[in-house]
Amino acid sequence: MAARPDSEALIVGAGPVGLFSVFELGMAGVAARVADILPRAGGQCVELYPDKPIYDIPAIPEISGGALAERLLAQAAPFDPQFHFNEAAQTLSGDVENGFVVGFASGLEVAAKVVVVAAGGGLIAPKKPPLKELPAFEDKSVFFAVRDPELFNGQRIVVVGGGDSALDWAIELAPQAASLTLLHRREEFRAAAASVAKMRAMVEAGAMDFRLGQIRGLKGENGRLDAVVAAHGGETFEIAADACLMFFGLAGRIGPIADWGLKMKGPLIEVDTAAFETSRPGVFAIGDVCTYPGKLKLILSGFHEAALMARKAVRYVRPGEHHRFEHSTSSAILHEKLRR
Ligand SMILES: Cc1cc2nc3c(=O)[nH]c(=O)nc-3n(C[C@H](O)[C@H](O)[C@H](O)COP(=O)(O)OP(=O)(O)OC[C@H]3O[C@@H](n4cnc5c(N)ncnc54)[C@H](O)[C@@H]3O)c2cc1C
Repeated sequence: MAARPDSEALIVGAGPVGLFSVFELGMAGVAARVADILPRAGGQCVELYPDKPIYDIPAIPEISGGALAERLLAQAAPFDPQFHFNEAAQTLSGDVENGFVVGFASGLEVAAKVVVVAAGGGLIAPKKPPLKELPAFEDKSVFFAVRDPELFNGQRIVVVGGGDSALDWAIELAPQAASLTLLHRREEFRAAAASVAKMRAMVEAGAMDFRLGQIRGLKGENGRLDAVVAAHGGETFEIAADACLMFFGLAGRIGPIADWGLKMKGPLIEVDTAAFETSRPGVFAIGDVCTYPGKLKLILSGFHEAALMARKAVRYVRPGEHHRFEHSTSSAILHEKLRR
């Protein structure tokens, strides 16, 4: 049997807040492992808005979600975090005196002296329409995200949805498509006004089509799409298509972490604001997953929570030792790591 990896701190969630925790724990002298169900780091910033500019990171006037994740990874790198991607945390056993073990869906178990839940909105998964034929087409000709835009060159594309992702991709893919139809159930859109204006101008110019309607079915064989079936106002119609991109938003689900015996408020974990510790000593919750009076779901709030969490976590990891607060400008631990 493979040896169980252990760690001083296990961070569940490699979103921006989980990544910054590596740095803050590292500054306190605590080594961390980070696990995420996704195949890459960055959380919402990378999954939901990699190219959108963020304007409220202190001292960075503008940075995209993807670039922020890159910089957080670079900032954490001197502390050598060990990453476990494609791993969904499921169970938590143990306590702060004897150590914790987190069990993952794959069977992996990681032992840790403290556990930091930075699971954000939970397991990020696209919302899917209830079409019985969907599984036959999914990832073959029906997609819920675009990883490689070039795959759609020269295709007849139907984009379904009325939010930012739907409009952004419709606008970007239309010039390279054989045809592109945007299908949305109503005339109003949730997307940015500038994107809606651009889409309408492209429709006007004949660069894409817009159809009002709700998706009702998919037609084709062996996973190859021939047409999307839609309905509006009692009329059912088909749109010829080689590919269909569906953007109905994302469903966040805290999942099994809700059963870890932590005091919850709905889907969020209650914490104290002195150290962002949960009702279970040694288990912390920071970022979008935690709640307390006045909580704001902002990246900068998560960064602050990570800093205070680390000050308390080190007391559990190395009890009895004296821990002095140090600025990064004079931190001996940090400077030694940066010299390597
Ligand atoms: C469109 C959009 C625009 C935004 N713009 C801004 C902005 O301008 N400024 C700002 O401050 N904030 C903005 N936000 C909010 C910001 O993205 C979040 O506050 C931030 O991502 C929270 O970070 P996090 O690390 O707590 O959680 P997340 O980014 O949600 O990351 C959590 C990670 O945990 C993982 N995870 C969850 N459950 C498990 C599990 N059981 N096992 C393993 N891994 C798990 C997830 O896969 C995910 O990678 C925006 C959000 C959206 C959607």
